[in-house]
This record gives sequence, C-alpha cells and structure tokens, in this order.
Amino acid sequence: MDTRILDGVALSRKLRAEWQGRASALAQAGHPPGLAVLIVGQDPASAVYVRNKIKACADFGVRSEQLELPEQTTEAELLRHIDRLNRDPAVHGILVQLPLPKHIATEKIIHAIDPAKDVDGFHPLNVGLLAAGQPRFVPCTPAGIMELLDAAQINPWGQHAVVVGASNIVGKPVGLLLLQRGATVTFCNSKTRDLAAHTRQADILVVATGRPKLVNADMVKEGAVVVDVGINRLPDGSLVGDVDYQSMLGKASYVTPVPGGVGPMTITMLMINTVRAAEAAYARAHKAVNVL
Ligand code: NDP
Repeated sequence: MDTRILDGVALSRKLRAEWQGRASALAQAGHPPGLAVLIVGQDPASAVYVRNKIKACADFGVRSEQLELPEQTTEAELLRHIDRLNRDPAVHGILVQLPLPKHIATEKIIHAIDPAKDVDGFHPLNVGLLAAGQPRFVPCTPAGIMELLDAAQINPWGQHAVVVGASNIVGKPVGLLLLQRGATVTFCNSKTRDLAAHTRQADILVVATGRPKLVNADMVKEGAVVVDVGINRLPDGSLVGDVDYQSMLGKASYVTPVPGGVGPMTITMLMINTVRAAEAAYARAHKAVNVL
C-alpha cells in the first residue's frame, strides 16, 4: 500500500495565503485582528509554543501582544489582566498558555475569558456549543485535524473513527467533530482493555496520549488513516509522536508526520480563529450579520 502524508506544513502555507488576505482586509478597514498571549512562569516548552504563536501572528498579519508574567503572579492579578483584555476592543483573541502554576485554578481563568475572545475554544460556553453541534470556536488541534482530513478529501461519513486519548483539548473535541461529520466514534483512554482490539477496527485513527510510539503497525488496519497528535521529546533530544511513524509506511493509507503534521495546523487554526473573532467583532460594531 502506498502511504500518503498528511502534510500540515503545506496545508498551513495554503491556508495562510487565504487568511492573510482576510486579516489585511480588516486592517485596511482600520480594524486589525489582535491576539493577546499570556504566559505565567518559565516553563521552557511553553516558552517555545508562545514564541511560535507570536511568530505566526507576524506571518498572518495579526497584531500580537505578549504578557510574560512571573511565576508568583496571583490568581487575582491574572484575572485583572484578563478583565482588561476582555474590555480592550483592539484585542479579539485571548490565549492563556497552559499549564499554569499550581496555585492558579485553571478553570477559573478559562471561565473568565470573554467567550467571544476565547480563540482556544476552552470556555464552557464554546465547549457546550461544540457538543450541541453549533461550534463557534473549535479548539485549534481538533480543528486542524479536520482541515487535514478535508484537504485530503477523507470523508468521515459512515467510517469508524477511533480516538485514543480523551482530553478536553484534543481527544474529546476531535471525537465530537468526527461524530458530527457522520463517523461512528470509539473513545479510548488509559483504562481501555486491549487497546489494539479497538485501534485495529479504525478506518480513521487519532492518537493523542503523550505516550511515545504507543501505536505500532500491528495495532492498525491495512489502509487506515492515522493521525498522530503526540509531541514527545525523547532523552536523546529527538521528537517523536504517539505513533511509530516508520512502521505505518506501507500499512496506513495516510499518516501525519511528527513534526510537520498536526503541530503546524494547531497554530494555523489559532490564527484563523483570531481572524474570525476579529471579523465577528467588526460585524457587531457595524451592526452587520455576525459572521460566526
Ligand atoms: P492529556 O495528558 O491531557 O490526555 C492524555 C489522554 O491519553 C488521556 O485521556 C489518557 O487517559 C490517555 N492515555 C494515556 N495513556 C494511554 C494509554 N496507554 N492508552 C490509552 N490512552 C491513554 O494529553 P493531551 O490530550 O493534552 O495531549 C496528548 C498528546 O498530544 C501530548 O503528546 C501532547 O504533547 C500532544 N499535543 C499536541 C498538540 C499539537 O499541536 N500537535 C496540541 C496538544 C497536545 P485518561 O483519561 O484515562 O487519563
């Protein structure tokens, strides 16, 4: 079997060309899209993610504001920053980089973000809209996975999708999106008995566990579409996914590489959500039909 690559770098480039145009149309109307990124503390992985997001803003023509707050920032201080950004008309998207230090209640912070600026799609209102089949802001990684499938004309309708990992930011929302697109969905988690018995049934397999190379070719049906969300740094410094990529070649019909698959799409979808938030704010300000 010829295995084709779901290339997140190439698709991101294509989407960027389209969405840069929409960002620049807003800028020309005197309403440039703006994203505020808040990071608390010194987590090195978070610092890299934030740097990449700020760079993507520059590429997409999105104005960015980065707030680097010290580790000892209190919950009340962080809430005050969010309140200010909620009220700032030049800010259309607010992203709080996770994880937060342990003394800050993550749910409290997420709940404080204006749902209309929640470009990560983590606020319970946006989670509820997604679950109800009326998505507004879809979390970026699941949204990016659906774009990758669509770009390759992989239609989930009637297919058996198996999602390994059921976190709020990846597994659960991608399972809901696949369900809404007509797939029969199985969720697996760390308690699942005989994981391979489930993964072998998948026409579309999404793996998001944070367990390096958890899924190998023996666990995959011939011709399956395999989406690897995992990003794991091994002790030798190399980056691997949750799927043994090499073993998929010749077995899967499609596979995402790590890096270069889902990762770049996550950042691209963040930019798209921010431009959409800005378009919606512009429409509200001009009493036009809300485009979201
Ligand atoms: P979480 O740790 O929040 O969730 C992991 C999920 O995997 C849980 O549901 C857990 O089960 C399940 N799990 C863990 N071990 C197993 C196992 N052996 N068998 C079956 N299920 C298992 O992780 P995230 O969803 O936040 O992230 C998952 C991976 O994706 C990480 O590698 C992360 O770095 C990466 N990631 C990549 C992104 C990208 O842009 N490419 C974006 C976000 C994440 P249980 O619920 O029982 O604990």
